[in-house]
Amino acid sequence: MKIGCFIAVVSVFLGLAAFSPAEARSHFMGKKGDRGEQEQGKSDAGLEPRMRIRPSGLVAVFPAEAACPDIASPFGSSTRYDGSRRPSDRYGGLHGGIDISLEEGTPLRAIAAGQVISAGTGGLARGIYLWLQHSPQETGLPFWVYSKYQHLRDIPELKAGETVTAGQIVGLSGKTGTVGRHYGPAGYPHLHLTTFAVSSDRYEVRGSSVVAPMSRIFDPVTLYVKGLRDVDEIERLSGDQKNVPVPYVAEDGSVHPAGAPVVWPVACRRR
Ligand SMILES: [Zn+2]
Repeated sequence: MKIGCFIAVVSVFLGLAAFSPAEARSHFMGKKGDRGEQEQGKSDAGLEPRMRIRPSGLVAVFPAEAACPDIASPFGSSTRYDGSRRPSDRYGGLHGGIDISLEEGTPLRAIAAGQVISAGTGGLARGIYLWLQHSPQETGLPFWVYSKYQHLRDIPELKAGETVTAGQIVGLSGKTGTVGRHYGPAGYPHLHLTTFAVSSDRYEVRGSSVVAPMSRIFDPVTLYVKGLRDVDEIERLSGDQKNVPVPYVAEDGSVHPAGAPVVWPVACRRR
């Protein structure tokens, strides 16, 4: 796996500009989870936060028998779900995750088995959030995945350290952090999901952010690309390869196809 040597301060809307690489390094204490092998630490030289957000061109394709809440604003998009332009002071105006428009109170599902590492209340633009960590064994992907769910209605009952299974309900959708400014008093009820690829299970929770070594933000649709060896591999996909069949959870909790390790973050209704 090709990995740059850097630390990204992983926070969804704000954040990066607030931390210099040196600060990120000094705050990263190598707190280690106990869930697997720890990659030997590489040199800290040349650390720099790097986000590299750009559209992946991947398209989530859902099975004909399932009605799934689709992406309203894809990763790397310069516009919101309503077509308005995103503010340029965040990630260069490009979307750092995917938005799925949802009625408030819609159950959100773990994209894969994993462990809760953080949950809490962020401010404007963040809202109530939940971070999960997923091992390569749990996803079948060749890197650790950190997923962040945002704008939840309530603080999740799940606590850091608890494990979840693929498709398990981990919280309810909401609009926290979206009320005011662009979305006005009504806010925008939706799930914002951000995913990061990391080479090890080491991380540090800093407020509503998580700091991890050699962290790389990526389009969550990448999760569903079969046989992926490397995040960069999606850049080499073309044509039909960009259409990615997405396994899903039905409202009854059943996973389709059965045993799929990675699923859509919201249940689909069987037609
Ligand atoms: Zn978003």
